[in-house]
Amino acid sequence: MKKDIQPTYYHDAKVICNCGNEFTTGSTKPEIHVEICSKCHPFYTGQQKQISARGRIDKFNKKYGLN
Ligand SMILES: [Zn+2]
Repeated sequence: MKKDIQPTYYHDAKVICNCGNEFTTGSTKPEIHVEICSKCHPFYTGQQKQISARGRIDKFNKKYGLN
């Protein structure tokens, strides 16, 4: 009977990156501001090699509830 604990889930939450890129994702927040995104993150762009990207991405996703 703890209905109020469940957050609203937005299926088209707006994500705004510092680089100017915007996209939508599922989140418990209607709008999310991030410092990195799939367009400017070195893991995705391939500008850096062999950083511990996987852990960083997981942290990133958890932090912003993108999973
Ligand atoms: Zn970006």
